[in-house]
Formats: sequence, C-alpha cells, structure tokens
Amino acid sequence: MQYESVIGLEVHVQLNTATKIFCGCATKFGAEPNSQTCPVCLGLPGVLPVLNEEALKKGILAGIALNCEVAEYSKFDRKNYFYPDLPKAYQISQYDMPVCKKGYIDITTENGMKRIGITRLHLEEDAGKSIHSEDKSENTSFVDLNRTGIPLAEIVSEPDMRTADEAYNYLQKIKSIIKYTGVSDVNMEEGSLRCDVNISVRLKGEEKFGEKVEVKNLNSFKAVKAAINYEFDRQVDLIEAGEKKLIIQETRLWDPDRQLTFSMRSKEDAHDYRYFPDPDLTPVIITSEFVDELKKSLPELPDQKRERFTAQYSIPVYDAEVLTSVRQLSEYYEDVIKNGANPKKASNWIMSELMGQIQDPEDIMNFPVKAADLASLLKLIDNNTINGKIAKTVFRDMIETGKKPEAIIEEKGLIQVSDTSEIEAIIDKILSSNQQSVDDYRNGKEKALGFLVGQVMKESRGKANPQVVNEILINKLKG
Ligand SMILES: [Zn+2]
Repeated sequence: MQYESVIGLEVHVQLNTATKIFCGCATKFGAEPNSQTCPVCLGLPGVLPVLNEEALKKGILAGIALNCEVAEYSKFDRKNYFYPDLPKAYQISQYDMPVCKKGYIDITTENGMKRIGITRLHLEEDAGKSIHSEDKSENTSFVDLNRTGIPLAEIVSEPDMRTADEAYNYLQKIKSIIKYTGVSDVNMEEGSLRCDVNISVRLKGEEKFGEKVEVKNLNSFKAVKAAINYEFDRQVDLIEAGEKKLIIQETRLWDPDRQLTFSMRSKEDAHDYRYFPDPDLTPVIITSEFVDELKKSLPELPDQKRERFTAQYSIPVYDAEVLTSVRQLSEYYEDVIKNGANPKKASNWIMSELMGQIQDPEDIMNFPVKAADLASLLKLIDNNTINGKIAKTVFRDMIETGKKPEAIIEEKGLIQVSDTSEIEAIIDKILSSNQQSVDDYRNGKEKALGFLVGQVMKESRGKANPQVVNEILINKLKG
C-alpha cells in the first residue's frame, strides 16, 4: 500500500538584537555563564518586563518577508511549565493572538514550485541552558541563564509537506529569506535556528491525519531529513503490523549517533501549559504606517529576485532559485552580467563549474575568480578566442593563481585556431592516416565522425575551433 507522511515544521529563529526581549541584558554568544543576567531575566520577584521594540520590529520584518498578515492587536501570554532552565516557571510567549499569521513561502519540489502555508509567527523569550556534568558519578547539572530572555520568533508551518525533501527545502527557504532580511544569523550549529518536526503517516488519498509525533533535538538540516525518513518507516511498519495503536501523540528525541528517534514524553496539550495573558505586559498595537515603514526597509527577497531573474535573464526557474538562494551569490551573478557576460552562459557556468568549487556560497566575494574576470572568460568563449573545453582549464588556473584569463591564455598559448587553412592541414593529415574511419563514415557509420573530430582536436592540442573542424571535416568526407 502507498503511504505518505504529513509534515509540519516549527522553526525557532533567534533575532539578532543587541539586548534581550524584556530587559537590557546583552545577548552576545559565548560569554561567561550567567554574566549576562539581571533580576528581570532571572525571574526575581518585584520586577517588570518591558518589550524591546527592536525585537518586535525584527519579528514583524521576518513575518512580512514570509508573506504574513501583521496583527493590529496582539498580546503576550504566560506558558507555564517547570524546568530547571526556566527561572520564572513560565515562558513569556504568544498564544491565541500572535503578532503575524497566515503567510506562505514557495519551495522547489521535483514537480515544480509548491506553496507551503505558514500558520503563524509569534514572539517569545528563550529559556536557559542546562549543562550536565560529563562525569556521571558527580550527578551534577549546571544552568546558564545567559540565553534566558533572548528574543525568538517561532514560525509554525501548516502540515503541507509530504516528503523529507520538501521539509528540507522548506527549511532552506526559511533560512534564505530570513538571512536576506538580516534579522537573524540563522545558524543551526550555533542554535540561532532550531527546528522541531511534527509528522504523521496516512494512506495516500486519505483525508484524515494520523496520530502525530513531535521530534526534537534536530541540530542539522541533515538530521531533520534523516529523522523524518526514520519516523515514516517506523510508523508505516507499526501500521502494517496491525499495531497502529502504538503510534501515539508524543514527543520523541532524535539520537544522531544511533540514527533513530526514541520516546521522551507523551506530548502536552495546550491546556497542560495553563496559558493566560501576561498581566505585566501591555497588548501590542501595530499601525499600518508602522508596517508600511518596515516593508520599505526590506531588500528584494529571494522569490521576487527569482521571478526577476527568470524574466530579465531568461534562465530556467530552477537555476534562478539556486542563484537567488544566497544574497551574495545572486549579487556575484549580476556582477558577472554587468561586466558584459551573456546571462544564460553566466548562469550555466556558475551552476556547473563554479558551485562545485566553493564550500559556502556566502563567501563568494572571497572566491579567487572575481566577477569581472569570469565575465572576461565567458566573453573569450563567445568571441571564439578559446573554446569551451579550454575555458574549463583556464578557469581552474584562474582559481589556483588568481590571474586574469587573458594572461593565462597568452602564457600557455591557448588561443583557439579558427584559421581554415591551418585546420585543413591537420584534417588532411588525420584523414590520410585513418582510412578505415573514413570508409566507415562513408558507409553510413555516423559514429566515425566523432572519432575523427576527436583526433583532429587532439592533434591541435584542443585549440582548434570545434565548429570549424566539424564543417570542414564533413565537407571533405562528402567530397
Ligand atoms: Zn536581563
């Protein structure tokens, strides 16, 4: 039978404000434990939280970038639970009236673009961090409250994803969009991007959702994909074995060493948290002028840029999606075009030759081949100074030496030979020493032509203009 998974993601994005969301403590990463705390974020009695306007602005910016509606009226609520890293025994979050809702983003799938709904984006404070002694016999844990009160935007998706790849692409897209807005570093390894997965399984075509499981402790994009695939198999196996009742609403943890999930606790329902409005904070009223101002401050975002690239440069949607996924990469691409390269050729070259050479597209400005030099290289192919194959060798040299393509071509004598008399001489030589192939071609074996072209190119040490070679060769073989 055909099963499918129903996947929704909860993404926590740490907003990069200088101070915490309800107090003036610094948010710097890596400081001495508990050095960035005060009575407010320590949860001492008699203090009052004050909303950091910068956190509100950055949260709303993220919401607008994710095509959300911004609520005119929203409020903060207390989410009550007991945990050592939560000094107030409640977390200030937003429950029924989030600051942003009803958004969407578009992702690429194997069947083209797909729209994934965003239920809501709300603001909340982060909890602290428990540190457990590595020596088990000590039986000791510590808590660092520097992270307590750092502003988070939680982005909750609709259960619109059906495969691990879709979830992966959704996460990539969220990361890409938030990065463009500049409101977060969205670094999963440093914890400024965190993701929990909700997943259930059902028969394809069925309307009803199965029992959903929440998976936590996913610390990389790869882990998200692996955990979804694991859960899908686990739940399908249980259904097939007639043990559907063993799939229960629960929270499971991903174990990266054993590559599996295991049950942590049965999942709380919302009422278990006893949400109620935080009486210490006034409701948030947002005017349309405030939203308009924020909209104006946003840069061109990946989806708009992708649409512009496909229209303006006539490149495939997929290429435009990749080129616009990272702002720096999109700027490099446009820089190559501004320097006179053909847009389609530039896109092909970056996708096929360049992307494999860089670890992190964000660092492309440090790539040894500058945009202007890549443009020169591409123009040298277009005006037949070198052929495409030689260009690849030149490109590798450019990466190694940082030299300009003209200099490398000059030094190594790689200029393409288009002079017909020179090429004719080579062709005559090859034809006379490969009579068998000549006969084969004349007897209808098309393949023999490729062999002869190869021999001519080899004899010219790759420098002959392949188009000219083809033309002359076919003429001679016909004659
Ligand atoms: Zn504080």
